[in-house]
Amino acid sequence: MEKKVGLIGLGIMGIPMARNLMKAGFEVTVYNRTAAKAERLAAEGAKTAKTPREVAEKNPVIITMVSDTPDVESVILGENGVIEGLHPDAVVIDMSTISPRATRQIAQRLAEKKAHMLDAPVSGGEGGAIAGTLSIMVGGAADIFTRCLPILQAMGKNIIHVGDHGMGQTTKLMNQILVAGNLNAVCEALVFAQKQGLDLEKAIEAVKGGAAGSWQLSNLGPKIIKRDFQPGFMVDLLQKDLRLVMEGSELNKIPLPATTLVHQWFTSLEATGDGKYGTQALVKAVEKLSNIEVKQKNA
Ligand code: NAP
Repeated sequence: MEKKVGLIGLGIMGIPMARNLMKAGFEVTVYNRTAAKAERLAAEGAKTAKTPREVAEKNPVIITMVSDTPDVESVILGENGVIEGLHPDAVVIDMSTISPRATRQIAQRLAEKKAHMLDAPVSGGEGGAIAGTLSIMVGGAADIFTRCLPILQAMGKNIIHVGDHGMGQTTKLMNQILVAGNLNAVCEALVFAQKQGLDLEKAIEAVKGGAAGSWQLSNLGPKIIKRDFQPGFMVDLLQKDLRLVMEGSELNKIPLPATTLVHQWFTSLEATGDGKYGTQALVKAVEKLSNIEVKQKNA
């Protein structure tokens, strides 16, 4: 089994993922565009590299966890990118959420270098990344999935091989349709509860274990009523994912009316400069319609 892993991208998700890989006994080499974050992990035992290319030169498996499709293309295919340093039979595991179509193109470019790719986007948020309990949906060849499973198991719990290249990303977009609709329901429910004078903390407690319970309600509901909008998952990043959903909807003629509406609510948050907040800030758009603020009485 591979014991050396490279990881490119030390954001909200990448840092705890690197820590969990080290905890599981992997020798981890990290690269981050802003070098200070890599230095922090070096103090905890990680090796550091100056470029994505150097990460590939030193490791048979390279994980990317950066923001968007052009960023993944840049660290893998760009100047001093992973592709310039790859060993034959190396595996690139992209765990960012990006375009399924671009994923298939990157996999093709890597195959020309006799290297492999898995798309392995995740769900479970910052908390799941810290706890090592991420859900991971994986596209790519079955034998490469099996080879990389111990690495993925260091970061996640529910790890499913869903199909060929791009299918992991398509599953993640399905996940984001569920997230967006569910979060919208949480926000509307809290506005409804607030306006009718319910104790919001008690109301969440009362419903979260029943048929209406959800990750969004249990994790983001309490943040909303404390007016805590710090990001676990940023509005700008969910919008990036919903744009990919809209692209799939358009290309494949799949109407998604409710998801389109929630995408527009989030666009209004971008317009008011709230894009860097966590997705729970959606309540700010919904509560304006009722001219109230959702807030626990003693918060
Ligand atoms: P983040 O905190 O914004 O971190 C983004 C990371 O990507 C940073 O390390 C950033 O480097 C790096 N980066 C961005 N563009 C780059 C470029 N062009 N070249 C090199 N490095 C670049 O984002 P995150 O929350 O960790 O999310 C990472 C990915 O996971 C995204 O695709 C997101 O959709 C997905 N995801 C996030 C969550 C969540 O709850 N946060 C959950 C599931 C999936 P700098 O430090 O230099 O800016």
